[in-house]
Amino acid sequence: MITIDQFNFKGEKVLIRVDCNVPLNSEFQITDDSRITATLPTLNKILGDGGSVILMSHLGRPKTGPEDKYSLRHILSNLSGLLGRNVKFASDCIGEDVATMASDLGAGEVLLLENLRFYKEEEKGDRDFAQKLASMGTFYVNDAFGTAHRAHASTTLIADFFPGKKAFGYLMAREVENADKIMKAPQRPFTAIVGGAKVSDKILIVENLLNVADYIIIGGGMAYTFFKAQGGQIGKSLCEDERLQTCIEILEKAEAKGVSIHLPSDSVIADNFAADANTQNCASNAIPDGWMGLDIGAVACNDFKSVLLNSKTVLWNGPMGVFEMDAFSKGTRTVAEAVAESTQNGAFSLIGGGDSAAAVHKFGFEQKVSYVSTGGGALLEYFEGKTLPGIAAVLG
Ligand code: AMP
Repeated sequence: MITIDQFNFKGEKVLIRVDCNVPLNSEFQITDDSRITATLPTLNKILGDGGSVILMSHLGRPKTGPEDKYSLRHILSNLSGLLGRNVKFASDCIGEDVATMASDLGAGEVLLLENLRFYKEEEKGDRDFAQKLASMGTFYVNDAFGTAHRAHASTTLIADFFPGKKAFGYLMAREVENADKIMKAPQRPFTAIVGGAKVSDKILIVENLLNVADYIIIGGGMAYTFFKAQGGQIGKSLCEDERLQTCIEILEKAEAKGVSIHLPSDSVIADNFAADANTQNCASNAIPDGWMGLDIGAVACNDFKSVLLNSKTVLWNGPMGVFEMDAFSKGTRTVAEAVAESTQNGAFSLIGGGDSAAAVHKFGFEQKVSYVSTGGGALLEYFEGKTLPGIAAVLG
């Protein structure tokens, strides 16, 4: 892998694609800056070499051009504080004024460009737009694992303009290195935990994991489609009727490959999707009408825990229940504790971004697992066995 370690950036003007897509509250304050802190080592290396840095990122999902709530200006003071230097801000990401600011940038200086997604050309993967961005720098670095699965102008097309002068940042390299520990040479037994709301979002990863995992734990809302597919009664739990056959096929393939699938045999059920709903414990395949499974039950917690404590490699993507509500967070917390304990016993554990990372964060387990990925969709696609365009572009 070509990383920034193989270069000295003295005198270079380095365009870095970072993922500063951080959550903001209603006062536009950052509520979790981990995506920014994760990329600091890359910025510090380049600045330390005597390079200057032009940061490119997106924030949120602006629909039709500039919107103040998605302005990267909101992260400026936080970024300056974390870097310990005054970061300059360009109120656009292309154009003459920005180009002038970029060309005036001296060694050790940082310029943050405005949200790339204020231009539809970014997500469309427009070559002219990529070229306009490219013209401001002498070297391209991609450190945005979170968007590596998107063939956007700043993640993919731009790399063409920097033959021999492009590399991965440390975060990107670390993400790939950790994901490969699991995909390429997992210590066994290898357990994958897949949860969350929808079977359809996770089919491809489950299918690919059938080729590498020893155990697959399936929890969260997606489990109930599996129970229904096997003839169970699931009340008004989440269900994707068009995926019933897929669930049967996954179970059959697992059996043929000798992969042991663990579904939650019992659930915490509720009469309403609400924090104060009436609840009870019940078998996951015998949920009464009018009730829904919102968390795995006590028997399932013990079953999943014993599988995890017997594992040497653990991959976790997706919560076991509606962990955002305390009444339905116990399953996710129990799994987080078991992953932490297994890690303490020597297992390698990787938590896949999005909701599972949020859960690990909520329960305070970040330091007790081996690696928490910053990528949600990108990590999923990597584990689905796909080539990520943002990675291919730097290698090409
Ligand atoms: P995903 O984005 O597919 O990983 O799904 C995460 C979301 O699934 C979280 O917001 C959870 O609250 C939700 N979820 C997990 N389990 C259930 C369940 N049993 N019923 C409804 N939603 C669930």
